[in-house]
Amino acid sequence: MTTTTDLVSYEDALASYDPVMGLEVHVELGTKTKMFCGCSTELGGEPNAQTCPVCLGLPGALPVVNATGVESAVKIGLALNCSIAEWCRFARKNYFYPDMPKNFQTSQYDEPIAFDGYLDVQLEDGETFRVEIERAHMEEDTGKSTHVGGATGRIHGASHSLLDYNRAGIPLIEIVTKPIVGAGERAPEVAKAYVRELREVIRALGVSEARMEMGQMRCDVNLSLMPKGADKFGTRSETKNVNSLRSVERAARFEIMRHAAVLSSGGTIVQETRHFHEDTGSTTSGRVKEEAEDYRYFPEPDLVPVAPSREWVEEIRAALPELPLVRRTRLLAEWGISATEMQAILNAGALDPIVATIEAGADAASARKWWMGELARSANESGTSLDELAITPQQVARVAELVAKGDLNDKLARQVIEGVLAGEGTPDEVVDKRGLKVVSDDSALGTAVDEAIAGNPGIADKIRGGKVAAAGALVGAVMKATRGQADAARVKELILEKLGVSEG
Ligand code: ADP
Ligand code: MG
Ligand code: ZN
Repeated sequence: MTTTTDLVSYEDALASYDPVMGLEVHVELGTKTKMFCGCSTELGGEPNAQTCPVCLGLPGALPVVNATGVESAVKIGLALNCSIAEWCRFARKNYFYPDMPKNFQTSQYDEPIAFDGYLDVQLEDGETFRVEIERAHMEEDTGKSTHVGGATGRIHGASHSLLDYNRAGIPLIEIVTKPIVGAGERAPEVAKAYVRELREVIRALGVSEARMEMGQMRCDVNLSLMPKGADKFGTRSETKNVNSLRSVERAARFEIMRHAAVLSSGGTIVQETRHFHEDTGSTTSGRVKEEAEDYRYFPEPDLVPVAPSREWVEEIRAALPELPLVRRTRLLAEWGISATEMQAILNAGALDPIVATIEAGADAASARKWWMGELARSANESGTSLDELAITPQQVARVAELVAKGDLNDKLARQVIEGVLAGEGTPDEVVDKRGLKVVSDDSALGTAVDEAIAGNPGIADKIRGGKVAAAGALVGAVMKATRGQADAARVKELILEKLGVSEG
């Protein structure tokens, strides 16, 4: 396990070889019940409490297809520009593994529900790359094993294993790309951008939350190299179950460097599965890949074929939401921002909060400003994501409204946000409790202005002499004296008035 792997530098690898990638993404659907029985899909239940004869594979149990699962598959297929099969079947994928009680996985084989599509993905610089989709098919998840008694939690060294079948039978959609060629040195970036775009599509469709950190979406990264200019693909490795966007990119990058080292020293790549390790950013060998025939696929005799009518498919197509790339392109134009700014918003996970804040009444510029400024900084400091912050888009919109009305200035608004995040209540409650309000009332400001003039006679003289710009220093003094709560514009007017100067 700890043997070091020879690597060629990324640049050298790309100078001699063209990478070819294939991405297989599994998405757990957010249906209420499992794919072939009525068991709940809720996470965190007592182990094996959400099971029944069907998902435990007991003899004689008969599965029934989950209609919402099929509908979700059609939605995904359409969003990925696929053709939808007029007729297709499930197939048994036979293999023995303890976390799969039936001894086969119900999947689809040569008759996927969706096929031949594409997804346009956006790279960091705003450029678009088209990833062709081979197929999207329906299947079911397996159970979960926990190996107990060893030091590592792995099966090696464990004294026994525990099995939880709650996840067995939860609907999965597997989306497989055609070989991705022509990405060159950007292959790892394309892989990451593809998985991200796919995640956004899945979320926009509302078929899954697609949280990679919770295993609701995971990616197998197939990668091979061929000598530059060749047209015959090399042998691939398949790095399994990569579960973050960053890891997808790193796994592809590592495999490029590893393949190049093997190939350039005259070795051959064995077709095998590999595991990615977050800590080292490297992959290690798993098992040598079984041939497809080993699974003895055959059509599932206990399930009826799936034949989505064309009318139904068209109804679903007509009801699809605006897809993420289209939406981003529209918002970018509406807000008049650059591709780089949009990318920064996406990377910060701020797009949805910003849109929700605008929907709650804020103007686009202030919504962007608060989420990308104060709130992004807070999230960063506390190591959370923006949607986990203890402030709602409606509250941010309220803060923006108070600023627009002149009740708050930016400095006070930041204090209000800080109070809301600290759990002191709504923006209005924080304003009340902390007594944060711009003071624009002349009688209240007058004294502070008089004191500032009296305390800075030299500056006051300059202003009297016509140097209006010097008023800034007096405004600063008033702001300081009022702990930032004075209405700066009104303060300046008062100063000039009292000194008998006009601005123009
Ligand atoms: P399996 O089911 O055995 O993993 P697939 O035929 O479904 O095999 O292919 C897996 C993925 O690998 C697909 O995305 C496919 O496009 C891609 N792929 C196939 N051959 C290669 C290759 N030589 N190099 C890189 N990717 C490949
Ligand atoms: Mg595979
Ligand atoms: Zn069940």
